[in-house]
Amino acid sequence: MIFEARELVVRYRRNASAALDGVSLRVPSGCLYAILGPNGSGKSTLMRALLGTLPLESGSAALDGRTVNAWTRAEIARAVGVVPQIESVAFPISVREMVGMGRYPHLRPLGREGVSDRLKVQEALRECDVESLVDRDVSTLSGGEAQRVRIARALAQAPRALILDEPTASLDVRHEMEILRLLRRWADSGITVVLITHRLNAASRFADRLLLLSRGRVAAEGTPNEVLREDILESVYEWELDVRTDPVTGSLAVTAR
Ligand code: ADP
Repeated sequence: MIFEARELVVRYRRNASAALDGVSLRVPSGCLYAILGPNGSGKSTLMRALLGTLPLESGSAALDGRTVNAWTRAEIARAVGVVPQIESVAFPISVREMVGMGRYPHLRPLGREGVSDRLKVQEALRECDVESLVDRDVSTLSGGEAQRVRIARALAQAPRALILDEPTASLDVRHEMEILRLLRRWADSGITVVLITHRLNAASRFADRLLLLSRGRVAAEGTPNEVLREDILESVYEWELDVRTDPVTGSLAVTAR
């Protein structure tokens, strides 16, 4: 699936400055694309604009070359798995049921899960390392466990694209690395992965391309080597930073001075 945006302008009511101000991007199929930027730079707004869940002041967003407004919500739900940053579950639900919800967009009205639905759920539970939690109520999980369950739900959808907002923020090192490796693998298998993250070093190591936002505008876009430059990052983050090649991973690593 291809995401495209042209000259997006989004303004929240009563805010004088635009949350997005002329943002354009193109995410090709099978790309692991990271959206970076300081707090409030417009990352979550960009995700919502790409999914057509927010009114644009001007500009356009398209999925697979078709304007996002021409897609029905059901079509988008079948094609794109979304892992938002915050989500509260207000009713008791087991891990198995929650991941099974990923299959809803594919079921007929009042339809029941079939064998292939159950297999997809099983595979997603395994890939995200939450098989041992299937009978637990979601409200009893730790932050990291709940996050992996939400990623499993998006994966169970068998989407052509995934958009994840800070998916590894509450994960320990092992689970963070496992999720990043999975995202890389999913991208290599052809799923387009858009990853919103604060973690410059993770993005440098795993993403194909980066988009760096600053106050609603694109400060830089390109490969990690093109975007992760000291001069660019220091002016966006307003902090002295050191960018070097990490001898262990071979990718650029950013350290705050
Ligand atoms: P990020 O995800 O990079 O932290 P956001 O997209 O959440 O940034 O926010 C971009 C800007 O838009 C910020 O200045 C934020 O305060 C503002 N903003 C975000 N959501 C709303 C909203 N619902 N109403 C008003 N302003 C908002």
